[in-house]
Amino acid sequence: MSATRPLNLYAVVPCAGVGERAAAGGPKQYARLAGRSVVSHTLRALGEVKRLKQTVVVLSPTDTAFESHAAEFTGWVVRSGGATRAHSVAAGLQALLANGAQVDDWVLVHDAARCLVRAAWIDTLIDACLNDPIGGLLALPVPDTLKSEHEGRVAATIPRQAKWQAQTPQMFRLGALATALMKADDSVTDEASAMEAQGHAPKLVTGSLENFKVTYPGDFALAERLLRTRE
Ligand code: C5P
Repeated sequence: MSATRPLNLYAVVPCAGVGERAAAGGPKQYARLAGRSVVSHTLRALGEVKRLKQTVVVLSPTDTAFESHAAEFTGWVVRSGGATRAHSVAAGLQALLANGAQVDDWVLVHDAARCLVRAAWIDTLIDACLNDPIGGLLALPVPDTLKSEHEGRVAATIPRQAKWQAQTPQMFRLGALATALMKADDSVTDEASAMEAQGHAPKLVTGSLENFKVTYPGDFALAERLLRTRE
């Protein structure tokens, strides 16, 4: 491999979850918001990022709904999602490697359910990470006082200083991330934590409060209001 080869940037969108916490009557990525499905909003934003060479959507092997909810998507689709988000992302990385991507290319992993993302924020992450040896993630400093809970009551107050909420996209080198995810245990809920377990310190890049992941029932109405007022 030539050292001067221009590096490519890819996106992987894990879209194989069942959305248990959302109670949306089906996978939350297919709920309709402001006239389109959640995942279709997400893919539209990614489609506006000119530096992305290709986007891979990772579906559950039993998914029969994606095409009808994202008819305009022209990227790659693989039906090899796994039992956890980490397994689904790893499947997306393998699909990229099998289709010509190289281990030193960059990959941006973005939740299908984080449908309020804007191309400009993704570009900010790319600019911040492109010359970084590790990569990084969009995240937000935690503004509130944090509590841990036991049986519905406060068990402890956790100092909020130097605490950040992780968002996506998360941007890493394809090979390093594939290795980190292969070694990850089931406690890993994002790519950065898999990289951290390998001794890396991903870069924190300030994102936006609007880039939340629709997760709980009340999130859908808020996401819809934000999407409707954007036009
Ligand atoms: O469940 P959670 O909110 O963490 O899911 C984040 C993203 O990961 C969603 O877009 C979901 O579809 C995806 N996911 C997946 N495979 C799983 C679980 C979640 O692709 N097994």
